[in-house]
Amino acid sequence: LDKYKTEGNVTLGDVFIAVKTTKRFHQSRMELLLDTWISRAREQTYVFTDEEDDALKRRMGDHVVFTNCSTEHSHSALSCKMAAEFDAFLSSDQSWFCHLDDDNYLNPEALLKLLSSYSAMKDVYLGKPSLNRPIRASETLSNNQTKSVRFWFATGGAGFCISRKLARKMMPWASGKNFLSTSELIRLPDDCTIGYIIECKVGGQLLPNMLFHSHLENLQLIPTSHLMQQVTLSYGVFENKLNVIKLSGPFSSQEDPSRFRSLHCHLYPDTPWCLQAVGW
Ligand code: UDP
Ligand code: MN
Repeated sequence: LDKYKTEGNVTLGDVFIAVKTTKRFHQSRMELLLDTWISRAREQTYVFTDEEDDALKRRMGDHVVFTNCSTEHSHSALSCKMAAEFDAFLSSDQSWFCHLDDDNYLNPEALLKLLSSYSAMKDVYLGKPSLNRPIRASETLSNNQTKSVRFWFATGGAGFCISRKLARKMMPWASGKNFLSTSELIRLPDDCTIGYIIECKVGGQLLPNMLFHSHLENLQLIPTSHLMQQVTLSYGVFENKLNVIKLSGPFSSQEDPSRFRSLHCHLYPDTPWCLQAVGW
């Protein structure tokens, strides 16, 4: 995989960060992200949602994008949002597209360190493989026959990044209305569709990376001393239990159930509300 590597020095200005959310999570999830990591990457971060919200707009200004996508959790509603993210990136002038869910913590410095070891001039698709084998899907052909396809994809819930070079090659299947019709060919969610376009249409490949994490893995298994180097983290439910990273303070689990505020204070101890938390 060395052919993808270079010595480029990526700065935040080179990255377009898209966060997918929905109306019912504006307060419960977005406020937490705005208070924490987005405050360190505000200029680069765009939030894609489905309903107007003055409170969110006040905090994010023109960095909140109200898509006309449905508020349902259907494949088509989610593909509609992914298409909006992808198109917004294509019309920006950034070199890297990174997608995140609204239950992800992004460490901007760790992200830049990772991207700096790749070239945006090559076909780069980085993320956490959703499965330990390629997914099999049945693709509908134009004559209505089907073909079995196999491909790797990065789980959207852990975040993933794509270089501009690769994104441009994806346009015939991913830009505008194309994304939805492509996702209908395999009838799988938006993150699978991204993998399908890259691996089956463009001829690229997922570069698996262990620094991306979703709540579909046991987050307690990440050693506390390694948390600060991870590119993304998450929180949520896994096997019917609350799944969060292992970090003892400065906030209690009652004050900070996701542990994102505590993590943020470890990464940025000079944050005003962190100083109060530790009583300095
Ligand atoms: N989401 C959305 N519309 C919905 C439900 C969820 O855009 O109707 C977004 C949500 O904001 C999050 C992502 O989809 O960014 C994944 O949702 P969630 O974490 O609730 O589900 P998961 O698939 O992780 O269990
Ligand atoms: Mn989730």
